[in-house]
Amino acid sequence: MTIPRDIVIIGGGHNALVAAFYLAKAGLKPLVLEQRDSVGGAAATAEFHPGFRTSLLAHSAGPLSSQIAADMNLSRHGLEMMEPGVRFAAIGLDGRGFALYSDTARSAESLRKLSPSDAEGYVRLCAALERAATVVGPLLSLTPPDIESPSENLPDLWKFVQTGRSFRKLGRAEMFQLLRWPPMAVADVVSEFFENELVRAAIAARAIFGTATGPWSAGTAATLLLRAAADPHPAGPSAVPKGGMGALSAALAAAAREAGAEIRTGASVAQILVRDGAAVGVALATGEEIAAKSVVSSADPKRTFLGLVDPVHLDPFFLTQIRNYRALGNVAKINLALDSLPTFPALASVDGTGANPLIGRLHIGHELDYLERAFDASKYGQISEQPVLEVAMPSLLDPPLAPAGKHVMSIYAQFAPYKLREGDWGSRRFELLRTVVKTLAAHAPGIEDRIVAEQVITPVDLERDYGLTGGHIFHGELALDQIFTMRPVLDSARYRAPVRGLYLCGSGTHPGTGLTGASGANAAREILRDWKR
Ligand SMILES: Cc1cc2nc3c(=O)[nH]c(=O)nc-3n(C[C@H](O)[C@H](O)[C@H](O)COP(=O)(O)OP(=O)(O)OC[C@H]3O[C@@H](n4cnc5c(N)ncnc54)[C@H](O)[C@@H]3O)c2cc1C
Repeated sequence: MTIPRDIVIIGGGHNALVAAFYLAKAGLKPLVLEQRDSVGGAAATAEFHPGFRTSLLAHSAGPLSSQIAADMNLSRHGLEMMEPGVRFAAIGLDGRGFALYSDTARSAESLRKLSPSDAEGYVRLCAALERAATVVGPLLSLTPPDIESPSENLPDLWKFVQTGRSFRKLGRAEMFQLLRWPPMAVADVVSEFFENELVRAAIAARAIFGTATGPWSAGTAATLLLRAAADPHPAGPSAVPKGGMGALSAALAAAAREAGAEIRTGASVAQILVRDGAAVGVALATGEEIAAKSVVSSADPKRTFLGLVDPVHLDPFFLTQIRNYRALGNVAKINLALDSLPTFPALASVDGTGANPLIGRLHIGHELDYLERAFDASKYGQISEQPVLEVAMPSLLDPPLAPAGKHVMSIYAQFAPYKLREGDWGSRRFELLRTVVKTLAAHAPGIEDRIVAEQVITPVDLERDYGLTGGHIFHGELALDQIFTMRPVLDSARYRAPVRGLYLCGSGTHPGTGLTGASGANAAREILRDWKR
């Protein structure tokens, strides 16, 4: 083996790039090894049909922490975020719809046409989520406490004390609400604020995105709170990078390189080398070995511990915990190249602030039970016949993504279970496409005639091409038993693996809620603590 490097990081997703930046900034020399030809992982832009480019997988960000964006000076590295006037719109089968803007009063006005009482409910929900975010938000950038000895790390303990104080500041009613919500089904929570089914379903959809849950599943309100901690707007963030998510990854990589990190693409790690209970480097699929004082994996926990570490180095109980970690994906991604802009008649009465209301994210799934039935199918290994869709038209905000006058449509389709009871994704991918296009056509008549080309990415493709075990878009289910001190598992939720010198920094660690960069930044902080010791 070569002279040991300071740190090798397995994978070049956004969390790895954030971690590499902070480690390099502190004076270490991290080497990022990415198996694909480009960095970014699920934050990628590519041409999927001549002249048509889009965010291949994620089409919106967590959002990325503003602290990280500032530390990494991403705007200087070419990142330009674009904020559409409409954040989010939803349409029902009765030809009606509504839009949500950044401005609460304006959004409430849009809802008033559907239900005056829901306009008031929306104002109440915004206030509740904003207040909850003041307590839960700071937890995202915190290392989960060591359950055995919480006082071991004083800075962490102090932050917890502060969280406790902001919790108490909420006042009795809101404190009770924050304690009451997490185990609840999000369907029950939204029903306390709204009477209109479309409004209920549209807000509840945020809680179940990317998970194996329906709106009536217990604990889905916790996911809503977790997401609201990053952005308390009820429908979540809407700003997108100019050039798609790949532009975000390019800026992160540029910042990491400038700080002193080295990045190698086309470098697939086959094994984490362990000697005398400590990680000492990695072996690439080519056979090349790279020695390192510390190894950081941004691959998901199952891939890391069941695929890259020889099981003889891991405790059998820990291995069982990792095997039991739930990570079966349920989202498919469909990208469409369109020869012209589709028309959604239900959006005709929606104010697009001077632009087409399709410029934000569009929700399709008109009632809570529709969402639940779509989820039901996946429980039995079936593709939802009437899927829940989140649709984005990136070329409306960012025209160079498609040839003049043409468009790209980016669609999240739920539910598309990794494990199908009958057949396989190889033979059934076009069935999913037909179902999605049929669902779209019920709201946008004639859309099928505008499709020039399509790309269908199933959970199995996510596993094969992007290294996401089980095709899970968040590296593992976001649920009460797999968050915070239990992400990925109890006793190993502080970015340190049970092998000396081995760390995790990907979405399978706290907070793991998507493209926020928080897992990478938190992991870097813990690694640096150990280095200083
Ligand atoms: C379809 C889809 C939609 C999504 N939508 C949203 C959204 O709207 N909002 C949001 O916030 N998040 C969304 N996400 C989730 C978000 O993209 C992920 O949570 C995030 O990208 C995870 O980042 P990461 O850096 O932890 O890991 P990843 O992005 O998964 O990167 C891990 C990297 O490691 C590499 N790798 C794995 N194994 C090896 C190995 N052995 N050797 C070398 N390299 C390896 C992989 O190739 C990959 O590049 C979505 C994801 C998908 C797939």
